Amino acid sequence: MENTLRGLYIGRFQPFHNGHLQAIKYVLENVDELIIAIGSIQDSHEIKNPFTAGERHYMIQSALLEAGIPHDRFYIVSIPDIDRNAVWLSHVRTLCPPFEVVYSNNSLVARLTKEYGGSTRLATIPFFNRKSYTATEVRRRILEGENWEELVPQAVTKIIREINGINRILDVDASEGDLFY
Ligand code: NAD
Repeated sequence: MENTLRGLYIGRFQPFHNGHLQAIKYVLENVDELIIAIGSIQDSHEIKNPFTAGERHYMIQSALLEAGIPHDRFYIVSIPDIDRNAVWLSHVRTLCPPFEVVYSNNSLVARLTKEYGGSTRLATIPFFNRKSYTATEVRRRILEGENWEELVPQAVTKIIREINGINRILDVDASEGDLFY
């Protein structure tokens, strides 16, 4: 709708964790609708990017509905990376519904949003349990056989198990140095 305030929140979500969920809840207190953009959709089956875009979409939608966030408050879109940072936000705009505010703590996203200018504003998000709520920590705990489930929504735990994600992370880690990569 014309007067709807819409925000954009972009991430790789490898995987989607409790910090992402709390960030989304925070942003939804400040906008009418939120576009959740899955970035780097071309990447999967790597130790830093184990999950496909489709798997990440499944995780995000399931976690948001599990948290009671109504489906008419958010959109989930997929964004491939491009080689030219200078035009990246224009590229993102072509793949999303219109938005006025970009919510990000990522320094490159912040810089490109500020340089894009116009009526597009940048807003930051508070960090929630920054030490543990990171995708790097979730993947590390999976690799080390530690408790990773407490860092992600229950829906995400179920999906990682359903898609055999633990074995994928272990396999990808073990084969990352292979010549055929
Ligand atoms: P991410 O999943 O690591 O984080 C997503 C967002 O959540 C970030 O703003 C991050 O700071 C925030 N966050 C993470 N943990 C949090 C916590 N505990 N509490 C509060 N906030 C938390 O994803 P990312 O790597 O920041 O995603 C940026 C995406 O933008 C990438 O896919 C990147 O490739 C893409 N990008 C692409 C280009 C290009 O193609 N040229 C340029 C810029 C950015």
